[in-house]
Amino acid sequence: MERLILFDIDGTLTRTQNGYLPFNEAILETFGFAGDIRTVVPDGNTDPLIVKDIFAKANIPIDVDDVGWRQFSANLCASYGQHVGRATTSVRPLPGARELLQALSLRDDFTASVVTGNFEASAMVKLTAAGLDDYLIRGAYASDSEHRPDLPAIAKRRWEEWTGRTLAPDRCVIVGDTPKDLDCARANRMKCVLVGTGRYPVEELQYWRPDACLADLSDTDEVVGLLARL
Ligand SMILES: [Mg+2]
Repeated sequence: MERLILFDIDGTLTRTQNGYLPFNEAILETFGFAGDIRTVVPDGNTDPLIVKDIFAKANIPIDVDDVGWRQFSANLCASYGQHVGRATTSVRPLPGARELLQALSLRDDFTASVVTGNFEASAMVKLTAAGLDDYLIRGAYASDSEHRPDLPAIAKRRWEEWTGRTLAPDRCVIVGDTPKDLDCARANRMKCVLVGTGRYPVEELQYWRPDACLADLSDTDEVVGLLARL
C-alpha cells in the first residue's frame, strides 16, 4: 500500500553543531538585534516562531511582514551556507538516516518527503550538507506557514499534484523527535513515529503515545517494516 513518509529534519534526520552561529547572525543582520537562539527551546518550533520567542524573551516587540520573513530566510540561508562552507557549523545525518532514505527510495510503495520548521532554503542547505537531499521530494516548510500543523496537508497536496493521485491522511506518517511533531500528525489524522535522537529521550516520547517510538533510525529493516505495518 502506498505511503508518504514525512520526515522532520532537526533531531530526526540530522544533527547540527553550532547552528546558533548562522541563526544569530541572520537575526542581527535582518532585525538589527543581537538575539540569541540559545535563550529559547527551539525544538519542534518553526523558525518564525523561534524568532518571535527570542524577541519575547528579551522583552522586545517584533512586527515582521512577509517581506521581512523572506529577507530573514535569505539571510539565514546565506549565513548557513557560509558557516557550513567554513566548517564553523556542521550538519550531519543521524545514525541510519541516509540508509533508511536509500532503502525507501528503492521501493515504489514509499515516498519520502519533509515537514519541517525550517524555511525551505535553509532546509535545503542542511539536507545537502548532510548528503540527504537526493532522497526527499519537496515537502512543506516554515516558508509555507509558521504554524506547524498547517504543513502536513501542504506536503500531501504537493505529493498529490506530483503523482496525479490522491492519498488518505492515514497513509501518511510523520517521523519526528518532539511532541509538536505528534500534535501536527494528530491535527491532520496522520500516523506518527517519534525517535529519541533529539532533545527528548524515547521514554519521555512514549508518554505521549505516538503510533510507535524508536530510540533511533539505525536498524533500517526494522524501521521500514514498522512503517509498512502502520
Ligand atoms: Mg525536530
